[in-house]
Amino acid sequence: MSDSETVTRFAPSPTGRLHLGHAFSALTAYAAACRAKGRFLLRIEDIDQGRCRPEFEQAIYDDLAWLGLDWKRPVRRQSEHFDSYREALDRLRDMGLVYPCFCTRKDIAAEIAAAGSAPHGPDGPLYPGTCRHLSAAECQQRLASGAPFALRLDAATAAAKAGPLRWVEQGKGEIAVDALLHGDVVIARKDVPTSYHLAVTLDDAVQGVTLVTRGEDLLPATHIHRLLQAVLGLPVPEYRHHKLLTDATGKRLAKRDGAEGLASLRQKGADPAAIRARLGFGDLAVAAPTLT
Ligand code: GLU
Repeated sequence: MSDSETVTRFAPSPTGRLHLGHAFSALTAYAAACRAKGRFLLRIEDIDQGRCRPEFEQAIYDDLAWLGLDWKRPVRRQSEHFDSYREALDRLRDMGLVYPCFCTRKDIAAEIAAAGSAPHGPDGPLYPGTCRHLSAAECQQRLASGAPFALRLDAATAAAKAGPLRWVEQGKGEIAVDALLHGDVVIARKDVPTSYHLAVTLDDAVQGVTLVTRGEDLLPATHIHRLLQAVLGLPVPEYRHHKLLTDATGKRLAKRDGAEGLASLRQKGADPAAIRARLGFGDLAVAAPTLT
C-alpha cells in the first residue's frame, strides 16, 4: 500500500438484515475507493455476541456480493481480536485514563435524579462520575469481591493529556473535538472486554483505514474516537459521515422498524444495477477498487 492510497471501509454489525440504508453506506465507501483507485474493506463488527448471528453475517456477504461489491479477504471480524482490545485497555489503564465503574443503569438514574439535573450528551444524560470518586481502597474492595464492572474513560484527564484536537470531515473541513461531549464514556462493557468506540478506533488503525465512511448518526462518536487516537498514538484518518436514507415519512431507515431488506428485494427479483442507480451509483462498475 502506498502512503497516499485511500483505504476505506464498510463496517456493519450482524444483528439484522441489511437494508437500503446499508447499501447506500457500502456503496458510498466503495465509490470513494473506486474514485481514488484505492481499497475497500469490509469489517464485521460482532463484539456484541448476544445480538450477533452467523446467519446475519452470511447474509451481509450474500447481499453485498449481489449488489455487485467485492472486498479484500480475509474479512476482519472483531470477535477474533478481543486480545488486542484488552492490550489497548491495559495501556489506557497504565496511563491512568480509565477507571472501573460498578454502577448499574438504576444506580446512574438514581444518582442523576438525586442531583436534580445532569449535563446531557448526544445519547442522553452524561455519567455523573460516581465511581471516579471512589477511594482506592473501596475500588480494590469491590474488585476483590468480584462485583461486575465496566471501564470508563476519564475524559477530562484524557483531554488534558491530548490537548486540542481536530479531524478533517470531507466536504465540511476541519471539526474541533469536544473531548467532554460524551462525558466518561464506557470503553469496555461489563459483559464484553471492549466497546464500539475502542474496537472501531483500533481496527481502523490496524487496517490502515485512511477514510472512515459511515452514517452521520455516528458523527458525534468521532469526538471520542479522535481522543482515543491521540492518547493511544494512532494514525488519524479523514472522515466522511454521509446522510442517512429516510422513508416516505422522513424517518430514517432502521432494522428495528422493518425497513425492507436487500435479501427481500433480491427474492422479489430486483435488479442490483437498478438499485445502485436508484441510490445514485449508476456508473459504479466503471472502475473497481483494488482488492489485494
Ligand atoms: N458497526 C456500526 C454499525 O453497524 C458502524 C460502525 C462504523 O462504521 O464506524 O452501525
